[in-house]
Amino acid sequence: PKVDLWSFLFDRGSKPFADSKGKTKYTGTVLVRLLLSAANTQTELFTDGETGRTHTYASLRQQSVAFGRGLRARWGFQPRDVLGFYTPNNIDVPLLTCGLLWLGAVASPANPLSTPKELARQLRDSGAKGLVTQAAQLPNARRAAAEAGIPADRIILIGDERRDPEGKAVHFSELLLSGGDGEEEAPPARAAVDPEKDLSFLVYSSGTTGLQKGVCLSHYNIVANIIQMTATDGQYLTPYGGTDGKGDKMLGVTPFFHIYGLSCCLFTGIYLGWQLVVMARFDIERACQLVEKYRLTYAYIPPPVVLAFAKHPAVDKYDLTSLRVLHSGAAPLTAELTEALWQRLRIPVKQGYGLSETSPVTNVQLPDEWAKFMGSVGKLVPNMQAKIVDLEGNEVPEGQEGEFWVKGPNVFLGYLNQPDKTRDTFSPDGWFKTGDIFRRDKHGNYYCVDRLKELIKYKGFQVAPAELEGLLLGHPDVADVGVIGVQDPEQATEVPRAYVVLSPAAAGKAAAASAAAAALDAKAKEIAEWAAGHTAPHKKLRGGVVFVKEVPKSPSGKILRRELRDLAKKEERKT
Ligand code: AMP
Repeated sequence: PKVDLWSFLFDRGSKPFADSKGKTKYTGTVLVRLLLSAANTQTELFTDGETGRTHTYASLRQQSVAFGRGLRARWGFQPRDVLGFYTPNNIDVPLLTCGLLWLGAVASPANPLSTPKELARQLRDSGAKGLVTQAAQLPNARRAAAEAGIPADRIILIGDERRDPEGKAVHFSELLLSGGDGEEEAPPARAAVDPEKDLSFLVYSSGTTGLQKGVCLSHYNIVANIIQMTATDGQYLTPYGGTDGKGDKMLGVTPFFHIYGLSCCLFTGIYLGWQLVVMARFDIERACQLVEKYRLTYAYIPPPVVLAFAKHPAVDKYDLTSLRVLHSGAAPLTAELTEALWQRLRIPVKQGYGLSETSPVTNVQLPDEWAKFMGSVGKLVPNMQAKIVDLEGNEVPEGQEGEFWVKGPNVFLGYLNQPDKTRDTFSPDGWFKTGDIFRRDKHGNYYCVDRLKELIKYKGFQVAPAELEGLLLGHPDVADVGVIGVQDPEQATEVPRAYVVLSPAAAGKAAAASAAAAALDAKAKEIAEWAAGHTAPHKKLRGGVVFVKEVPKSPSGKILRRELRDLAKKEERKT
């Protein structure tokens, strides 16, 4: 349906129980559905894993309206205005985000480990008029806001620590403005939103090349993806406590600043009505404790969390038998890891695939197919068209590899203020080019086999090589540099590695040292540490710094990353 996301989730008549498609388990007579619908509003949707604090569907609805009204009345917030988020997972994130949706305004989340400079860049680019954060992030948030021209009193705190020692930031609870019973009908009413044109979220991704860009996701994009998920994963989930109080319960560890956490965990969660037990940061022992305590049944996680369940010794201490199935996404999950988890815990792990630009899900494996097609990212979700093409854009025969192109209602509108990059990302006839290399089998299962684009993913987090290269060129001893991702099998993730050409002075100095090899090693470490001091932790050069005579480039000056990857493979074989 072409409705805005807030109406889709909260308007009477559009609640999940009004839609019976694919949910045979809990539909039935209209009367039963209406009774369940009334009861579900009091069901816990979000639970803070640390404090036990909760939001129900009803409190979320009521307080999100109050927040939207408050923002409008106190700050003059308008539809299409942008609010930045810089916070670890917290149950107040959905509340504030829903408040923005009610208002027709836009949430733009950033990684809470971003440096002030990285955050300031996103705030400026998105045109954010305010910033949501927590007390622990406040010093960085303040510096970034100042750099981006956002006044210190436009910083909103969430979480339990309510006071800004400098007395400028305000806690969101002070902004709540209920009208009447807090329902959206209370005057003044909501502004109209165009579901297909207006943005719900503005998330950041480097796309196929270059620096982070604002990915414009409309209301329609997210509503579509929720429905696509409902028709696939939704079939296997029992919502809103179910009829017997045994509805599905999720581990909420995937970051809400990333589209996977935001769209799959939070918003599909509100629609389908599972209880999400929220963790601020991942810790395997704590995750196991929460699974045991709440009898959690399901989780959307990235591969490193699967790895921890499969390999970490602490897991043996806990009863995880409530977990029915896990879903892995955001980075590749190998068949070996799937097998290892099954052997240890007898928990199936199925895989999905998506991107920020597709809101995010294009493919999922259904739970009964995980073992048969291990390593596959599954079939297309409904209403998704796809083709696998060669470098000229011609479809390749089934079973052969090529770039994965998609079309569908969940495909984004474009990159914010970047018409050229947007144009390059779509084919003339409107296919979105994912930059990933896929093949498809005769059963319609897709396999993500490699990446054409330059993006690196460290544990599911994006690292843009262009950004690290720009940074490293600022080091006085670096004459040229190319950054690629290399596999770290121990951690089941890619890690960034820099191939550096030393400046003649630094190279000469190292060569003249009495132990030249040791001097080069020390220089490599020093450069890696220097870079770590200037970036968010997931961008550290964990793959090391390797010195080369030159960075391979095309005649037009483009770094030939494939040649660097071949170099890395050769080095691997040597060791
Ligand atoms: P993001 O926009 O951060 O979600 O990143 C999207 C990219 O993550 C995709 O283009 C892929 O390169 C990668 N990705 C996501 N899911 C998978 C998966 N299941 N297997 C391999 N790569 C994946």
